[in-house]
Amino acid sequence: MAHANENLFSVLPWNGYKAAVSLTFDDGDPIHLDLAIPEMQKRKIRGTFFLIAGNLTRQDEWGKIAGLNMEIGNHSMTHKHAYELNDDNIYEEVDKANEVLKKLSGQNIFSFAYPFVEITEPLRKRVEKNCIIARGGTTGVLYYTPDMTPDWYDIHSQATMTHYDFETYKEWIDTALDSGAWTVFMIHAIDGSDWWQPIPKNIFIGVLEYLKENQDKIWIAPFGEVSAYWKAQKIIESAKIIKKEGKYIIKWKKPELFPPGVLLKIKVNDKVSKIIHAEKIIQPDSQSVFTISFDLSEMTFIKN
Ligand SMILES: [Zn+2]
Repeated sequence: MAHANENLFSVLPWNGYKAAVSLTFDDGDPIHLDLAIPEMQKRKIRGTFFLIAGNLTRQDEWGKIAGLNMEIGNHSMTHKHAYELNDDNIYEEVDKANEVLKKLSGQNIFSFAYPFVEITEPLRKRVEKNCIIARGGTTGVLYYTPDMTPDWYDIHSQATMTHYDFETYKEWIDTALDSGAWTVFMIHAIDGSDWWQPIPKNIFIGVLEYLKENQDKIWIAPFGEVSAYWKAQKIIESAKIIKKEGKYIIKWKKPELFPPGVLLKIKVNDKVSKIIHAEKIIQPDSQSVFTISFDLSEMTFIKN
């Protein structure tokens, strides 16, 4: 069986940008509401907020951030260590937390972040039943290139630290850009908070400014959004092709729990004259890029 990839079409990595950066924030620290979110909004930068469902102050305000196009992710119910989890509480810590956060935000919850970056098999299994992606370790691969096949339930991130200077973060961003990769920031506190590893406010703003300067090259998007795009890309690139009367019909299956509305950018080779998608002929943009809806699970290429 032929595969749909290279010959006929290619999916543009990172939504058509050169690289991707996701800003993720942990533990629902109020400084995120008071400082991080307003500063991000000013610059139209979106991110992911991993909330502890059972330990959340200012719930009304958190509930509203989904409306600002920010992502809310699951950071468990009470932030227990992995060794404290057992058959009696693991459902509560993962599934129930997902439900609580869904109710709070009015959003489905697709992303999980392991408390204390501790991953055990039972925990991972529970997470797989609720989310499409999880943020895990902080060592090893920190820059994901499109050709890699990642462990979707252990995506690594880089933690911000009080003593790091701006150059450190600039280098993270530049490395992602230079290698066409995706990197994930794990941010805790910012000055004005007594939570873990507060970073100076001017450095945080500096990171936002630097990202904004590079926004035509970097896809700055929530963790779950980048994950969904990349996961959809992998699925569509290995999809079944049915060859029939000068047509190639490409079908794929959307996994359970997958977020709706994922759009993929593709380019086709010059033997394809038309794409039919949802029974309509679709047109490319000025860069010859077609936009495909992953939800539709099918597209047809007509050969010249
Ligand atoms: Zn945490």
